[in-house]
Amino acid sequence: MSNAWDNDKLIRVDMTNLEVTTEDYPEDWKLLGGRSLSARIMLEECDPGCEPLGPENVLVLAPGTMSGTSAPTSGRISVGCKSPLTNGIKEANAGGEPGQDLMKLGYRAIIVKGRPADRDRRWGLEVTADGVRLLEADEYKGMWNYASCKKLLANYPKTASAITIGPAGEMLMKGASVGCTDKAKDRRPARHAARGGVGAVMGSKCLKWVVIDPGKAPMRKPLDTKAFATYMKAFSKDYLTGGRHDVFKYGTSAAVPVANMLNTFPYKNRTEGQNPEFEKLDGARIVESFETRGGEMHNCMTGCIVKCSNVVHDADGNYLTSALEFETLTLLGSCCAINDWEEVGALDRLCDELGLDTIETGAAIAVLMDAGGMEWGDAEGAKNLLSKGLTGGDKDAELVANGALAVGLAKNHARIPIAKGQAMPAWDPRPLKAAGITYCSSAMGADHTAGLVVDPEISGEAAAVASQEIQVINALCDSSGFCMFLGPTIDEHRHFYSIYFGEDIANEMIADIGWQCMVDEWEFNDKAGFTTEDDDMAACLREEGIGPDHSLKFDIPPEIIALAKVRQPATEKFYHTSPAG
Ligand code: SF4
Repeated sequence: MSNAWDNDKLIRVDMTNLEVTTEDYPEDWKLLGGRSLSARIMLEECDPGCEPLGPENVLVLAPGTMSGTSAPTSGRISVGCKSPLTNGIKEANAGGEPGQDLMKLGYRAIIVKGRPADRDRRWGLEVTADGVRLLEADEYKGMWNYASCKKLLANYPKTASAITIGPAGEMLMKGASVGCTDKAKDRRPARHAARGGVGAVMGSKCLKWVVIDPGKAPMRKPLDTKAFATYMKAFSKDYLTGGRHDVFKYGTSAAVPVANMLNTFPYKNRTEGQNPEFEKLDGARIVESFETRGGEMHNCMTGCIVKCSNVVHDADGNYLTSALEFETLTLLGSCCAINDWEEVGALDRLCDELGLDTIETGAAIAVLMDAGGMEWGDAEGAKNLLSKGLTGGDKDAELVANGALAVGLAKNHARIPIAKGQAMPAWDPRPLKAAGITYCSSAMGADHTAGLVVDPEISGEAAAVASQEIQVINALCDSSGFCMFLGPTIDEHRHFYSIYFGEDIANEMIADIGWQCMVDEWEFNDKAGFTTEDDDMAACLREEGIGPDHSLKFDIPPEIIALAKVRQPATEKFYHTSPAG
């Protein structure tokens, strides 16, 4: 009897010649998946010097190594390419069903290259048990994500899921995301691989959607099914009852009060670290609304035991959006002084519809407001800008959809909180130095999912070591397909991998998956022309303080940042540290 992975395949899509082929998955890459697989493919098959929105760029859609198995919360998918926002390598990660569905069919990655001669056309990729084919999709051109997915999935059984871009991706906006449908009955495109403009790269290839129908394909079988089930149960019990689940029970939006207390709830384009009206954006308000409006906490993908995703209803009890996360409440809310979670919910839905990163878009609107292009707190103006402006050719709307840097440069405004061209996430590098080291040293630029350390006490060399360790663990999570909110440690990954593949895999080897992924990404960026000068923080975050007496600044020198890129000896807790903190 063959193993689940023996017949794995890669899908190759040539958009220039409109051809699809499949090939055997290399045995050498057995342990790779998601981000580490994407990094390896990019390094081997994409010219780092290429134009990100040109035909030479490569788009990789890669589920995690454990996706499609019964391991809990393991079905995430990576979207990789050269980023039009940072001009470096990019991996953005999403939940939803597509990762599980691709892996159930044995497809470890979809590699998309080239570009059709006729760029006005739209194409879709269909992946089913019967095979893979490109389909004409002109009728979906310009459609918003929810309507597009509804129309598309109506043609397929209820087992199907979709990966999709909205108008922002089709218009090649640098803040464009790639949406994935969630587990809800309506299969909503509510989960986004959002960062770095990955949606624009999909748009540049005129690929509007990918639909995957695994049909009755079973979950992927571990070598020892019984041992896997036993470990899975023990792990799940420990997660649910040992305290880890408590942190994410009500989703990331519950972090607002703590973040505000720590001076990392940026207000008015980060001129302050605290928002005097933070309570109006506290996720507790969303949870309270479930009782009167409906809405709930749910799991965005099959097999997730965390259920951190809120489903938010409007005042009439109708579905509004999912999930309304801490990052969105911060960037589209507090950073723009839009101190109303319902307005932020409406903006979140607009971003999901158009296919825009809520972090980049919120940061860009905040820069626009700071530059005098819009009033602070103008929720109506922000909604109009996105809903009518982007597709109506409004210049400011296009600037916003191209990100914070584009707005700042066009408005000649100096306060642009970015690293490597990408907008800062909520977690501010001034009180959280180790997080700042991640933003500077990671090939991804300012990205909290690359390695977040929420510890205001840590600084200096210890912060560089903490940043590196969490970066390795996060790269591993993005590669295995486990959601960071489940947060398995390296040692727990080792258990899952060893039992699944039936091999005794050491902790060091598991950690190397994460480290080698980062090394591959750095190498890609070096070849793309990045230097150590790019491993720096925006000047405004070094020069302008927040917190007591505005004394908190990002003051980490380059030589400490550089330490995060040189492998450090593992600390005692390294193999037992969770990316979820
Ligand atoms: S923990 Fe949250 S984000 Fe992660 S898979 Fe589950 S519901 Fe989705």
